[in-house]
Amino acid sequence: MLEEMLEYQKKDGQLVKIEKEISESKAKKVVNQMVGIVKDAQQKLMQTEKNATILIKNYDTLNKSFINQQKITLKYLKLKAENEQDDAIVEYEKSIKDATTNLLLIQKNIAKLSKSITDTLKQFEQYKTDVIDAKKKHAQGMAAYNKLVESHEKEIEDLKKELVKLEKKVDPKLLAKYKKMREDKKFPIFVPLLNSSCGGCSMGLAVSQVNKLEEKGMLECENCHRIIYKK
Ligand SMILES: [Zn+2]
Repeated sequence: MLEEMLEYQKKDGQLVKIEKEISESKAKKVVNQMVGIVKDAQQKLMQTEKNATILIKNYDTLNKSFINQQKITLKYLKLKAENEQDDAIVEYEKSIKDATTNLLLIQKNIAKLSKSITDTLKQFEQYKTDVIDAKKKHAQGMAAYNKLVESHEKEIEDLKKELVKLEKKVDPKLLAKYKKMREDKKFPIFVPLLNSSCGGCSMGLAVSQVNKLEEKGMLECENCHRIIYKK
């Protein structure tokens, strides 16, 4: 019962090795990395677009108030010219001064905003370039990854066929336990007892547990839940 299980695990180990080689390959790393970069840059692009919209809106508002303030200035200048002898002239002069100060302030803010808009657009272009670049590298990575998978396809297929054959000889309960843990990426699942310790996680077993193992031939490790067997 145990022997067949171990034979199955040994064969499955070859598959695990190939799967690991593929999942830890440079190509796979590049692909994952580029997916991250594209996601990140796309998020930044969206944020920059939002920022640009707000900036442009602010720019429009300032422009409008600039025009408005300009009108006020002109109005007072006209009034001043028409009422050269009027006592109200002092009042007009003050208004003109205020309006001019406002105009200058608005102009300054417009210039500042204008620079922000330019910077934001530049940033937007940069992010766009980043996305294009990352997508290109992603495609290259995918091509290399697919090639790698393809190069192992036949081997994987053969191993799977052999595993199906071996499965029939294995105790179904053990196999079910095995498959569940295999899905959790734990390997190996059946481990030998090594100096009264679990051969998987090295946790020491109490004497009572060792006795139980000897009696039943197998024991689930309390720590890593692998199945410990006696050699
Ligand atoms: Zn263990």
